[in-house]
Amino acid sequence: MNWAGWVAEQCRSIVAAGRWRATRDLDAAGPAGHLVDGGRSRAVVSFASNDYLGLSQHPSVVAAAHAALDRWGAGAGAARLIVGSRPVHSELETALAAWKGAEAALVFPTGFAANLGVLSTFSGPGVRVCSDELNHASIVDGCRLGRGEVVVYPHRDMGALDRALSGGGRALVVTDTVFSMDGDVAPVADLLEICHRHGALLVLDEAHAVLGPDVPSTVPTDVPILRVGTLSKTLGSLGGFVAGPRPFVELLVNRARPFIFTTALSPADTAAALAALAVLRGEEGEGLRRRLRSHVERVAPGHPSPIIPILLGEERRALAASAALLERGLLVPAIRPPTVAAGTSRLRVALSAAHTDDQIDLLVGALREVVGAAA
Ligand code: PMP
Repeated sequence: MNWAGWVAEQCRSIVAAGRWRATRDLDAAGPAGHLVDGGRSRAVVSFASNDYLGLSQHPSVVAAAHAALDRWGAGAGAARLIVGSRPVHSELETALAAWKGAEAALVFPTGFAANLGVLSTFSGPGVRVCSDELNHASIVDGCRLGRGEVVVYPHRDMGALDRALSGGGRALVVTDTVFSMDGDVAPVADLLEICHRHGALLVLDEAHAVLGPDVPSTVPTDVPILRVGTLSKTLGSLGGFVAGPRPFVELLVNRARPFIFTTALSPADTAAALAALAVLRGEEGEGLRRRLRSHVERVAPGHPSPIIPILLGEERRALAASAALLERGLLVPAIRPPTVAAGTSRLRVALSAAHTDDQIDLLVGALREVVGAAA
């Protein structure tokens, strides 16, 4: 079969499975905007963004990006180790390390690249890599890239993790701290205790951890922890980073191919993230987090994160519920296989401090009607 025939067959099989996807444009600066889809434009409020504190729109964040553009231009022009590093990259790394209470931090072009960089550097022949079964795709791909022995343990099952580590040898444990499709959280204190007992390196992906869980300050100092994060969600910009002990970060600079062989993050994105971090760590950031927490309480009392799954089971029920919400002007995506396991299709609500109280009320009312109707 020639290439064109193969591509046509692959596309047909995706369509036949009812899983064909295409991008659609949301013309918006914040949660409210116009969804442009198949030539139709309609006003919507989005509950699908990871801009958890609305910092992508914050005046000081936008101003910092403008100032960086004016000073350094659009692109960095080279990889960090060549001539792509600007003073703003180092400033951001210092600020990220201080935020995470780590000795050093390193910025990557995306959070995805940060996970690939960490896992390909610290895994390898003779290393056992233990990974939660619901970890993000970038962790799954990083594990594949690392060429260590990968053990996937059942979701949040600390007994299984303990057993997987019992063989001795050099080991690494990697987990999301907030799982991206379920919005539940990893047992960080237990992970620390287990890694301490087995001498394992702990890699935490805190991409969605805007409301915690945090790493307890009583961590035994001999547990090496690498904290992976993204600049694209809570910080409203673009990019990823790793924070940890200085020698570990220096090894990444020298070994992590997704850092070495790629162009530096643009100065504007970097400056935006730095300004967003200043907001986040100040009183205003605390207020935004309180506001986000109160939105979560309104939609799903007691839920630990701004990602709220509403399980509907079959794909067609999730798709129908998402379509019914869209008819009401609310954009809440249906998540289905292969992103989640068959039979666990769901609506995935992502809340932001940028949502107004009225928008949250609308969502709560519509969910009551639509999910009730779909059940
Ligand atoms: N880790 C997790 C848990 C994520 O959800 C994501 C993004 N969805 C990433 C890493 C990748 O981050 P980025 O979008 O910055 O590449």
